[in-house]
Amino acid sequence: MSTDAVPTIKRLDEAVVNRIAAGEIIHRPANALKELIENSLDARSTAIQVSVKDGGLKLLQIQDNGHGIKLEDMGIVCERFTTSKLRTFDDLSSMSTYGFRGEALASISHVAHVTITTKTTGTNCAYKASYSDGVIIPAKPGAAAEPKPCAGNNGTQISAEDLFYNVPTRRKALKNATEEYNRILDIVNRYAIHNAGVSFTCRKIGSNTPDVHTTNSASVVDNIRQIYGSSVANELLFVEQSYPVYPLKIKGWISNANYSVKKFAFLLFINHRSVDSPAIRKAIEGVYASYLPKNTHPWVYLSLELDPRNVDVNVHPTKREVHFMNEEEIIATICDTIQERLGDANVSRNFMTQT
Ligand code: ADP
Ligand code: MG
Repeated sequence: MSTDAVPTIKRLDEAVVNRIAAGEIIHRPANALKELIENSLDARSTAIQVSVKDGGLKLLQIQDNGHGIKLEDMGIVCERFTTSKLRTFDDLSSMSTYGFRGEALASISHVAHVTITTKTTGTNCAYKASYSDGVIIPAKPGAAAEPKPCAGNNGTQISAEDLFYNVPTRRKALKNATEEYNRILDIVNRYAIHNAGVSFTCRKIGSNTPDVHTTNSASVVDNIRQIYGSSVANELLFVEQSYPVYPLKIKGWISNANYSVKKFAFLLFINHRSVDSPAIRKAIEGVYASYLPKNTHPWVYLSLELDPRNVDVNVHPTKREVHFMNEEEIIATICDTIQERLGDANVSRNFMTQT
């Protein structure tokens, strides 16, 4: 073979590398929103408002009342691997914040036009900057690339516009704005229920009535009622158990044997992060199978707390899936807990109907 036929290896442009990396973390508007909500919660916000245009493809905007971002950090906030959270590799095993990798804002800024307006309590005004590919872009051609002072409340507003404007294949794959909006609502709903004490609002731009609205003072069950309706909220059993051996804490609200739906609604949080676990999902369905009519399903919200050292959150770029130690035993324990709760409730129900 002549040497001409051997392909030459070239280093990819940094912008291309970053855009590919961004695509691994941000698949669709709902992933971006999850990262943004987690950042707002990390910033200790008590009110989070989400506004959406075209299923988040045109605009995804989040306003919070958290601690804000310091002016001097605004230059690097959208760069990759810049974070106020993780400091050393060892910290990874004890992270109490959602974020740790400093990748979310960077990723979003590589596939969307990002604008951040933020104010800390220590300053008189807010500052605003727009970002592209991780760095601030000048407000006008020739102007300095730096944040501009402006009016604003304490907290942070982040807008991502024209998501995937520079990734045409991904853009094409996401043409159904309604579906993307439903996924956004699903994320807001989950975080609203898991974070009683924080008010959440989600609305379409141009609509006067929000599609989700919870208040600071509402309880978990109030929020479930507000979002999923009384038919679920009236049929819930509270679950709370600790198992020091693992250690594992289980807390949540699960529907009783009177309630069933066509589709399993499963809100799972592991160490306060919304995740999915096909194994846990299947096991819980198995427990309910003996209580519910065939082909019907329960409504289950479970918050599991595990020792962060036993949980690997870094297995999946979107942090959607987590792995944890003693998975089989822990799943069996969760099932026993639910089984017991359903059993107790069933006994007291029969008892009440008999008397
Ligand atoms: P990570 O959350 O992993 O640190 P991000 O890219 O999501 O990485 O965010 C980078 C940094 O920007 C965070 O560490 C935090 O300091 C700051 N930040 C992001 N969003 C907010 C927010 N809503 N309020 C305050 N600070 C924020
Ligand atoms: Mg983050």
